[in-house]
Amino acid sequence: MSAISTVRTTDPNEAAGFIIRGGVVAFPTETVYGLGASIFNQTAVRKIFEAKGRPSDNPLIAHIGDVGQVELLALELSADAEKLIEHFFPGPLTIVVKKSEAVPAIATAGLDTIGIRMPNSELALAFLRACGTPIVAPSANISGRPSPTTWQAVLEDLDGKIDCILQGEPTDIGLESTVVDCSVEPPLLLRRGAVSIHELRAVVPLIRELASGEAGAEKSPGLRHKHYSPRARVAIRRELPAGFAGRAAFIGMRKPEGVFVETRVANSAEEYAAALFEFFRECDRGGIELIVCEPVPETGIGAALMDRIRRAAEG
Ligand code: AMP
Ligand code: MG
Repeated sequence: MSAISTVRTTDPNEAAGFIIRGGVVAFPTETVYGLGASIFNQTAVRKIFEAKGRPSDNPLIAHIGDVGQVELLALELSADAEKLIEHFFPGPLTIVVKKSEAVPAIATAGLDTIGIRMPNSELALAFLRACGTPIVAPSANISGRPSPTTWQAVLEDLDGKIDCILQGEPTDIGLESTVVDCSVEPPLLLRRGAVSIHELRAVVPLIRELASGEAGAEKSPGLRHKHYSPRARVAIRRELPAGFAGRAAFIGMRKPEGVFVETRVANSAEEYAAALFEFFRECDRGGIELIVCEPVPETGIGAALMDRIRRAAEG
């Protein structure tokens, strides 16, 4: 694809203009930056897959600026889906429901379901409302790379490949949304995120988690693909491996012992989660060979954080 000039703006209306003219636009949400196109413009949706190098079997999440737009996308809503919408929209939760006929197959990678989310960020909502239609958006990174939590990270991956970047602050949460499949009974947690299983079960008590080792990949195609990976090797531990003499970095919640080229000590699991993906990118820029990630207890955001660290360590 020949390079196009990528416009940068802080104006949500200017960014929405590119969507309305059939373009693709990166925009901030409270989770990570997304790369959006109008769900009803198949040519534009195709550009998302091309710009990211995203496998075509990996479905996109539809982002809405108004709860009323759910009706445009969903064929039907279960009582549980309605409860989740009522409690968690807007917020870092995606619900998967049976899709309406109006939704083109390219957006859902051929599935008969669609993921829907209403972000809880002023700038995202202003942008989505100015677009006037639901916007399908995966994370705004090259496929396989850590998700972008700053507009600079979007630029690093996608400059010259997308029409516009809506520049906002670094994202608050820094990990992708929780995904719950409401097209099955009982609903199934497909991806961990800032809305924890504990919070979900307070609203829908029977939500199931995939048991470890249970085949769930076919339910959420994105989970099959390599994800979140820096170029450096990732190790889940507190110290350097014995005998390691290369360039190492540390991220965690306690000051480490040993010699690290880069060290990031967070004051909470939330801060650790918010810093993780940008730290991975910094390490790549600094030619780090090994990133030591300290494990955290798997409660609250810690469960989502450990999920991403494990996937990065497998990468
Ligand atoms: P990303 O926005 O890049 O984090 O990717 C969205 C992810 O959400 C996909 O990779 C899937 O794992 C999940 N997802 C989106 N839509 C669906 C769907 N219809 N069914 C199951 N999982 C979905
Ligand atoms: Mg992604």
